[in-house]
Amino acid sequence: MRGLVKTSRGIGHVELRDDLPDPTAGPGWVVADVLACGVCGTDLHILDDEHKYWPPVVLGHEYVVRIREVGEGVTGFQVGDRVVCEQHTLACGTCDACRRGAIHLCPDKRSPGWGIDGAFADRVRLPAHLLHRVPDGVPDLTAVVTEPMAICVTGLDRAGSVLGQRVGVIGPGPVGLLTALIARAGGAADVTVIGRPSSLARLELAESLGLSVVTLTQVGTLPDVAGITPAEFDVVVETSGSGDGLSLAMTMTRRLGTIVCLGIGGRGAQPVDYDQAMTRALTVAFSMSSEYSAWDRALRLLEEGLDPTPLVTTYALADWAGMFDAVRAKAVVKAVLLPGAQE
Ligand SMILES: [Zn+2]
Ligand SMILES: [Zn+2]
Repeated sequence: MRGLVKTSRGIGHVELRDDLPDPTAGPGWVVADVLACGVCGTDLHILDDEHKYWPPVVLGHEYVVRIREVGEGVTGFQVGDRVVCEQHTLACGTCDACRRGAIHLCPDKRSPGWGIDGAFADRVRLPAHLLHRVPDGVPDLTAVVTEPMAICVTGLDRAGSVLGQRVGVIGPGPVGLLTALIARAGGAADVTVIGRPSSLARLELAESLGLSVVTLTQVGTLPDVAGITPAEFDVVVETSGSGDGLSLAMTMTRRLGTIVCLGIGGRGAQPVDYDQAMTRALTVAFSMSSEYSAWDRALRLLEEGLDPTPLVTTYALADWAGMFDAVRAKAVVKAVLLPGAQE
């Protein structure tokens, strides 16, 4: 079968191979045909050697698949079921996080797409206990964002209810825009997406989705940044992963407000505007990965009409290099590979 493989450590070292062995299910696991698999910032960090991975490994961790083989002992799932899968494979079950039920934070987990073979491929092998069935009314190109949606749901949980709140989202990438749509579905009074001029196309998309938009007029933190009233927001979600973004969030958030950090940094230590957070007595919460219930809640939001498809651009598996270029150039929001597409 075909698969996009990160072959060894270092920057780059990615190849589309057509000679990969077909996976077999084995006890407790299933093998599934990949219907669609999204690209995320983490994939770029892996390409650039800035995120952990175990080469050689097939990339791709945001997928919707159809089961083709069910291993021994698997109950509740059958051949033909469309499913998504929590990204917490090989969580140890014995560490402090696992024993608290937070298997998504297990330091030993190795998920499909970086720890074990993922879904930029014709087929993928997945553990049955982490699967969630996709409702019939949810199309593949909607279900494919379940994983990033679950990350956003888990992150917003850290802020408590957004009902009637003024929510700011820094960064108009996939996680930022999905967070904005979820916050609106969750009853936020107003949702404002904030980004740099380099993300103009993404900001225009946000505007077309009915979200408020602020384009930062200068690089850097307030007071260099125009267009935002300080302390305007109850909740700010930071998705850029930068110290500048977090400092901006600290300036935007009202006293006793909450900041949720969802952006992966990958930059080492970064300065932040400590005094802003201290004088406003802010709560700053970091959120990583996605917890169990967030997956079903994400699927229900999609089933009830939250439509992420304006964010999606599709590519055939053979077009993987052009797709990564488009993602780096921010020319698309959520790039999705379709292994079954005609090439
Ligand atoms: Zn991802
Ligand atoms: Zn563990």
